[in-house]
Formats: sequence, structure tokens, C-alpha cells
Amino acid sequence: MNAFSDLLQQDGPFTKEQLTAMIGATGAHQTLLHQKANELAVKHCGNEVFLRGLIEFSNKCRKDCYYCGIRKSNRHTKRYDLADETILQTALYAHENNLGSIVLQAGERNDPLFVDRMDALLQAIKKATNGELGITLSLGEQSRDTYQRWFNSGAHRYLLRIETSHRDLYRQLHPDDERHDFEARIEALRAIKETGYQTGSGIMIGLPGQRVDHLADDLLFLKEMDVDMVGMGPYIVHEQTPLADQADGLWPLSQRFSMSLNMIAALRLLMPDINIAASTALQAIDPMGREKALKTGANIIMPNITPASNRKDYLLYDNKPCTDESADDCLSCLNMRIALTGRKAGLKAWGDSPHYFKKN
Ligand code: SAM
Ligand code: SF4
Repeated sequence: MNAFSDLLQQDGPFTKEQLTAMIGATGAHQTLLHQKANELAVKHCGNEVFLRGLIEFSNKCRKDCYYCGIRKSNRHTKRYDLADETILQTALYAHENNLGSIVLQAGERNDPLFVDRMDALLQAIKKATNGELGITLSLGEQSRDTYQRWFNSGAHRYLLRIETSHRDLYRQLHPDDERHDFEARIEALRAIKETGYQTGSGIMIGLPGQRVDHLADDLLFLKEMDVDMVGMGPYIVHEQTPLADQADGLWPLSQRFSMSLNMIAALRLLMPDINIAASTALQAIDPMGREKALKTGANIIMPNITPASNRKDYLLYDNKPCTDESADDCLSCLNMRIALTGRKAGLKAWGDSPHYFKKN
């Protein structure tokens, strides 16, 4: 116990072996790790939990990631693409309900029509909310020019998970073609950062073939990339995907969940002043999953405000939560859930990453 509690008192930097010990922590060690992470989150990012209204505006995607339910080749997915007016109204709903920012997320598309459309939409949202609503994008890999255009039009944060920082594992999770190139994904992350966005990345936990030491490398990768925000959570099988065939060898759900909390906590020790999201996938395993993450180092929650009629079609994995509730249900239950953790919902504020402003 002593060596482990001594480790938690360090300011870092942490070695791969030390991080591996944190990720695998159980029992009393795990409790200590989670307490320390919670303490650091409040100390460096404040007692508020910031909310981002998540708008999953389209499930059309040009890619075929083997884990994802809305991959291009899934013929069972009913494709949708919300009208710009609907997206704008949903953004206004967020603004009127005191959410300081939104996340616009969709499958990856990079055709010129889509790029122009996003550009105009960003400007319209900014104008309609007097520039008050913060906008995060999660729209996959784009050219430097596109990232710049969208930044100029009002987006200021961008999320692009690396999914796994392990090159060989990445290859096993994606088709071997130019759309799914590991180096290109890293280059895209660099481009996002150099454009000036608050840059977010992350990984999935418990993928087929993934080991605990890969996860430690993932944490070191996020540190090395000096990201401002992280969203990471458990990998959950979607039956209509190629990876569903490998479900037998997976860590049990309870272990994927526990490791995910440990990953959040270890990351908080490694990068104390970044924003860390309590991912929705945690809630697919444990109904209180996101609240538990808020007690182990996370400080961001992304309530789903996608119009209810489309939610069931943005099915990345089986048993995705909140697919049949209206936006109101989600917001009110979330405020209550945050209060239960002893934290306060940070309303009307963008809730930017303190780390970003220390660097810039
Ligand atoms: N298309 C964009 C991209 O890939 O960056 C943004 C949307 S994508 C659906 C958002 C994230 O969903 C991915 O980065 C991935 O980590 C996560 N995801 C996809 N399938 C998943 C699964 N089966 N289990 C858990 N997370 C999953
Ligand atoms: Fe498309 Fe993103 Fe799903 Fe990959 S993870 S198939 S890019 S939506």
C-alpha cells in the first residue's frame, strides 16, 4: 500500500510502469487513486461540471471502422441528415437552456458541399446566439484548409479520438485503405492543434487485442500530444459490425468499466488541468457510470440533445443510453445527477480547458 500511496503523492511525470499499476488498480488502491484524481480535478478545473449539448446531426459516414455501428457498410442503418434549420433550432434550444456550448458530431464527410454547408451553419449559429454559444466539432479527419475555415467561422474546439495509439492495433480495427491511415489521423490531430483549436482526443478501452500496457502507452501519447481535452470510454460491441465476431475474447464489461474509471483517474494525475469527459458509453454499462466518472477525475458531461426521433439511428454500439428520451428528459436528469456527486453544473459558460490557456 505504501509504495502505491507514495506514487499518488508524486507530481509526475509518471513512467509507463507506474501508469500500468494505476490502470490495473483494484480494492483499496483503486479507492485511493480515485480520491486523488477527484481532488486534482476540483483543484485545477474547479468544482463545476461543464455541460456540452451533443447534437448527433448525421449518421452518414464515408468510413468503415470495424467497431462502429454507423460504419458505411452497415446496410441495416437507416441514414439521416438533419436539416440545417433543425440543427440551428437545436443549438438555440441549448442556448436557451443555459448550456454554454454544443458539440456538433456526425459521421465523417469531406466533400466540398459538406464543408461549405458546415461553414455557413457555424456562422448562422454564432449569429443567432450573439457569439455566446461555444461550438466544438467532432467531424473526423479533414484537410488543414477545412479546419481553418471552420475555425474562422466560429468553432473553437475539435474532438478527434486517436482510438488507440498502438499502430498495429489501429490497423486491426480498420480496413487497410487510405481512408483509415494511422499516420494521417495523427497528422490531422496536429493540424487541428496548429489551427488553434482546443484539441481533444481519446481512445476506446477494452478493444479486442488491447492490453493494459497499450493503455498506459495511450496515456503517454495524450500527454506527448499535449491535448487540451480527452474523451475516452469503454469499447462496446455492436452486433452488426465485423468486430462482433471477436466478442468472446473481450474483457468482461465490469472490467472494461473499472479500467475506464482508472484510465480517467490516471490521466487526471498525468495531466491535471485538462478537460476530461465522462463518456456516454460508461452509462451503457452502469446507469450511474458518468456520475462515477465525475468522482474519479472527469469534469465534463455531454447531454444528448439530438432530436429524439433520430437518436435510435445514431447507434454506435448496442444498448446506447438515452436513445428514447426527449432532450428535456436528459437535461433535467443530468442536473440532478451532477448534484448527487456533490459538484455543481457549470451553466452558461464555455467551460474551456485551463490547460489551453496556460500554453497560449
Ligand atoms: N466520425 C467521427 C470520428 O470518428 O471521429 C466522429 C463520430 S464517431 C461516432 C465518435 C466516436 O465514437 C469515435 O471516435 C469512437 O471512439 C466512438 N465509437 C464508435 N464505435 C464505438 C463502440 N462500438 N464502442 C464505443 N465507442 C465507439
Ligand atoms: Fe464513421 Fe466515426 Fe463511426 Fe468511424 S467511428 S465509422 S469515422 S462515424
